[in-house]
Order: sequence, then structure tokens, then C-alpha cells
Amino acid sequence: MRTIVVIGGVAGGMSAATRLRRLDANAEIIVLEKSGFVSYANCGLPYYIGGVIEDESALLLQTPESLFSRFRLDVRVSTEALSIDSVKKIVGVKNLATDEIYELNYDKLILSPGASAVVPPIPGIERALTLRTVEDMDRIVARVSATPNSAVVIGGGFIGVEIAENLVHRGIKTTLVEATNQLLAPLDPEMATLVSAEMQRRGVELFFGASVVNVLADSVELSSGAQIPAELVILAIGVRPELSLAQEAGLTIGPRRGIAIDEFNRTSNLDIYAIGDAAEKIDSLDGGATLVPLANVANRHGRIVADHINGRSIRSVKTIGTAIVKVFDLVVASTGWNEKRLAATEVPFAVIHTHPNSHVGYYPGAKPMTLKLLFHPITGEIYGAQGVGTEGVDKRIDIIATAMRGSITAPELADLELAYAPPFGSAKDPVNMLGYISENIISGLIKTAQWSEVNDYQDRGFQLLDVRNPVEFLAGSLPGAINIPVDEIRERYSEITNHNLLVTCQVGQRGHVATVLLNQLGFNAINLDGGYLLWSNSPEVFKIPALL
Ligand SMILES: Cc1cc2nc3c(=O)[nH]c(=O)nc-3n(C[C@H](O)[C@H](O)[C@H](O)COP(=O)(O)OP(=O)(O)OC[C@H]3O[C@@H](n4cnc5c(N)ncnc54)[C@H](O)[C@@H]3O)c2cc1C
Repeated sequence: MRTIVVIGGVAGGMSAATRLRRLDANAEIIVLEKSGFVSYANCGLPYYIGGVIEDESALLLQTPESLFSRFRLDVRVSTEALSIDSVKKIVGVKNLATDEIYELNYDKLILSPGASAVVPPIPGIERALTLRTVEDMDRIVARVSATPNSAVVIGGGFIGVEIAENLVHRGIKTTLVEATNQLLAPLDPEMATLVSAEMQRRGVELFFGASVVNVLADSVELSSGAQIPAELVILAIGVRPELSLAQEAGLTIGPRRGIAIDEFNRTSNLDIYAIGDAAEKIDSLDGGATLVPLANVANRHGRIVADHINGRSIRSVKTIGTAIVKVFDLVVASTGWNEKRLAATEVPFAVIHTHPNSHVGYYPGAKPMTLKLLFHPITGEIYGAQGVGTEGVDKRIDIIATAMRGSITAPELADLELAYAPPFGSAKDPVNMLGYISENIISGLIKTAQWSEVNDYQDRGFQLLDVRNPVEFLAGSLPGAINIPVDEIRERYSEITNHNLLVTCQVGQRGHVATVLLNQLGFNAINLDGGYLLWSNSPEVFKIPALL
């Protein structure tokens, strides 16, 4: 009988262990988990802190007993793997409850030890709490229950914004400090401003471009010298792969500082596999190494490893990094590469922003969203997408992520037959619309300009033409724009003296109609992608108070 030892008993580790058992009734499968809990829902931890999830036991999906009962797994909690001898195939183990130290032999070893929170060397940082495990959560809940007057969350990534939201739910005055100039790094800045606005609207004070340099007794000091009240300090500036065991075992560490793996998640020692946050992934766009600390990938790779150990043929699946987060009333989702990352490469790309409704406007309850699509300007290969809105964002990003997986190009999004009735979508779904627009761009029917290029076009002598109605125009417009509503262009185009026009409307749709008309009338017209709405939300226009 072979013995398979799994280190880490949560997302990746437990997916591997249960699949292993389903494929092999006889193997000895031992799972080592150093925390007191196994198979817990770490994604749900922030919501118990906020009181949204009221019953802690709802987060504890399995116990060692339930896993033994159903799968005959030998799950040992409060048990830490201390060392790996990859030559003798032995794991050194410590029972943290009894301090007993012993050894386990293995035939195959699976590493799923996750990632640990990055803790910067700042004076007083030991007062800051991090969130990875149920025990971490209980520590934070104990502090939150003592109703502190103020909290500072350091870090504006997914976990930072989730915790900030949940502290607000608890009625705690919350400040979020972020060292870069935006929240949620997978988003591009013009999308991230929508998230900042929502957080500010819900009472979270934001500081960008600011780092915490000192954690004091009841405040934090920023790089500017300012002090912010902080009875509670949460640290969420990111995670780094848990590498200590892998390094000690002599396994190769990859260029992104995760455990290097092949397409079957084998490490440099073929009897040791690595999955989840600790392991590097293969990026589906450039084939390079990447880190994607997300639950879906950890679970999927757990299954792949179990299949490979059992000699099943598997699909080697690369990752695109699809993620979603709730920020108060907003749904924020992204997949693939963002513009920042593409711009740092030689890869040519085109960008579309749209502001569709979640379903047809005439059916009650339609909610606007902002979508962004990035694709190759000739082949149409989809590089990535982002969405921010209150409803329907998850569906659209998931469709695009699926399209990317299936190598469906941007124009082919127009061909997708998506379920439609008025309460759910539109006959031309927002995803179909992205397909239509990308086809217009790739075929050369229209040219578009980005919000960040407006000044550039003006410097090059382009006249800004706003084709909204006068009421909209007077309520706010781009500096220097003239106004001729789209429906009056045929009668009034002789008033336009400039041949080169940058056309704008509210969201880009009327601008598109006007642009194709003006081009047929002999002008050189370019449509402002995303319209006035996107421009007015852009980081250069929408100022967030930053303490630099
Ligand atoms: C607060 C929070 C919210 C999240 N929300 C989301 C979300 O909404 N969506 C999403 O996709 N992802 C989310 N994630 C990320 C997701 O949980 C991880 O990507 C996923 O759990 C990684 O799985 P893993 O098996 O690699 O590591 P984990 O699930 O973290 O499990 C690793 C386990 O290994 C144990 N361990 C480590 N070293 C040893 C050792 N030497 N011996 C024994 N045991 C050891 C640890 O105690 C830990 O329990 C969230 C994570 C956190 C912390």
C-alpha cells in the first residue's frame, strides 16, 4: 500500500486528498495541518468578522472526523510538517498539542502550505493583525467585539478592502492606507477610481501613496508624518508563498519566488507535487511563471495532482487569474492581463470601455456597470477584462474568462448566443456589444481614443465635439468642447471648422453614431472610448484626497 502525505489541509490540500481517495480506495492518505482546523472557508473569514456570516461553524466545512468517516483520510490538525528529507522520502512532523515529534515515510508528497502574510519591518508592527486562518479571524473578532473607535487597514488589495468593508459593518471608523495610487492592483486606475468612490461614499477614509512607517499604541504614523487614530490595525499588504519546507527539501524555487512546477504540478523532485498559493502557475498568455493566490486554481490543481498520481490523463491548464470581490454595493471583477501589465510589454493591444445596463433599461431595476476589454488590435485575441458595477458584472467577466479559455476572439464575442429575457439581459448583451465594438475597431470602421489621450489629441489640433444634448453638456463637459447633438449633425455640420474631431458623448455610444456619420461627411473623426463618464471618473479628473 502506498502512502501519500499532504501538507496543508485547506483548499488545495484537501481537494487533492479527497480526489486521491475517490481514485484509490487503498492508499494511505495522511493530511498534516498546523492550524486547529481543516478544510475551512478562508474566503469567508472577512464576513464573519463583519457579522454578515453569523455562525462560525458555517465556515468549518469539514472536521477530521467527517473526513475519516466519508473518505478514510487520516487528517491530523495542530500538526506541523517540520522538515522534508526528499532522498529518504521522510517528513519530520510535530504534534503541536503534545510536542511529540515523529517521522512519516511517503511515496508521494503533496505540498499545499499556502502563503503567509507579508509583514514589513516597521516599528510596532507586532500590534497589527493579519488574516489567513480561523485563529487569525478569532483574534480579530475578539478585538472588534471590544468595539474599538478606530481601525486602520494597511493595504488596498482584495483582503484589505474586504476587511475594511466588514469593519464598517461593525460600526468602526475605518481608514485604509495604500502605498500605491489605487485600490485593487488587478484593475486599471480608471476602473479603480469607481471602487475608491464607493468606499469613500460608505465612510472609509482613503490614503494613497502613503505608507505606514510606525505603528504606535493607538495610532499609526504615515510616511508624511501624519498620525491616524488606530485602536485596531489590520495588515493586508499581500501574501508570499510559504517556501520554507520546499527550500529545505532542495526544491527549485521559480522566478516569481513560488515553488517551481511542471505542467503536472510536479516540483523539481518528481515525487513531490506543489499546488495552491505556494506554487507558481503557468500564465496562459505568455507561458511564463506567475503567482495566482486564488481558491479556484488551488482546488483545480489539487484535483490534477491526484489524477496524475493515479496515472490518469490530465489536461494541463494554464491560468488567467480570474477574480471577483464585493466592495459594499459594488461587484468588482477581472480576468487576464490589465492595461498596466500590457503597456509594460511590446505586445500591441486595443482597449474598449462600455457602460451598459445589467438588463434592458425598460425593465425595472436595471443597473449600470463599466466594462473594459483588452485585445490584440489585429488578431482579436482577448488579453483581459475588468468590470465594476452593482449587478451583472460577475456574469460578464465569467463569460469573457470562458471565451479566453476557449480561444474565442474579441469580435467573436458578438456571436455568443446568451440567455436573454428583459429581467436578465439584453438581446445585444453587454458581452455581445464588446464583440461588435472590437470588430469595428479591428476592421478599421472606427478609431477610438482613450481618456488618457484627450490632452494629446487637443495638442495635435483636434477639436473636441460633444454630441450629447445641451442639458447634459451644460451639466459638465470636457474643457474646450463644442456641442452639437448627434441628431442635429446632418443639419449643422457646416458649423464645424476643424477637419480633425475628437467626438464624445456620455458613454461612447452616441459618439460612435456621430463618428461614423462625420467620417462619411468627410471629417477625420475619432470617438472618445467610454465617453464623458469614463473621462470624468479617470484618476486625473476624479481627485481622491491623498496624503503624500
Ligand atoms: C481572508 C481571505 C479571503 C480570501 N478570499 C478569496 C476569495 O474570495 N476568492 C478566492 O479565489 N480566493 C480567496 N482567498 C485565497 C484562497 O483562500 C487561497 O488562494 C487558497 O486557500 C489557497 O489554497 P492553499 O491550499 O494553497 O492554501 P490554504 O488554503 O491557505 O491552506 C494552507 C494550509 O497549510 C497549512 N500549513 C502551512 N504550513 C504548514 C506546515 N508546515 N505543516 C502543516 N500545515 C501547514 C496552513 O495552516 C494552512 O491552513 C482568500 C484568502 C484569505 C486569507
